[in-house]
Amino acid sequence: MTPPDVKPWLFIIQPYEGESLSHFLGRFRRVNHLSTAGLGNLAGIGAVVVRWERFHFNPRPSQKELEVIASLVEVDVQRLAEMLPPAGVGMQHEPIRLCGACYAETPCHQIKWQFKETGGCDRHNLRLLSKCPNCDARFKIPALWENGTCDRCRLPFGEMLFYQKPT
Ligand SMILES: [Zn+2]
Ligand SMILES: [Zn+2]
Repeated sequence: MTPPDVKPWLFIIQPYEGESLSHFLGRFRRVNHLSTAGLGNLAGIGAVVVRWERFHFNPRPSQKELEVIASLVEVDVQRLAEMLPPAGVGMQHEPIRLCGACYAETPCHQIKWQFKETGGCDRHNLRLLSKCPNCDARFKIPALWENGTCDRCRLPFGEMLFYQKPT
């Protein structure tokens, strides 16, 4: 006999202010030991999660897809939509960009750093970094930012602020 409506027991995490969907989903998957495919299957939306974690939002996630993910991660669907670029805002998939000063305050990748129109951080008046200033390695997709450091030389993202030039 199977109990009705079996829902897997999942750890719930709180989104950070401005956090990108890629970074949020990566954190959620890690605390729950889920692969991207595993999360997609659990939500019943298949492989699109992989595309979202790479900032490929064309076609945009549908309302239905956002609703199933929102219910799974227990975040309000409106709040989840804020982790996406607003309609009409161009996205830059690569390179992944970072304001180290912001990261030192709030340890997450912010969605606005990938907007085409964003040149620098308007909070710190610093130019964004598009690679590690110490070893020149490109940043991985934010879903994989497990340690908060450069993947090659291990320089913490929060310390990269000392290399950022003013806008
Ligand atoms: Zn900043
Ligand atoms: Zn590095």
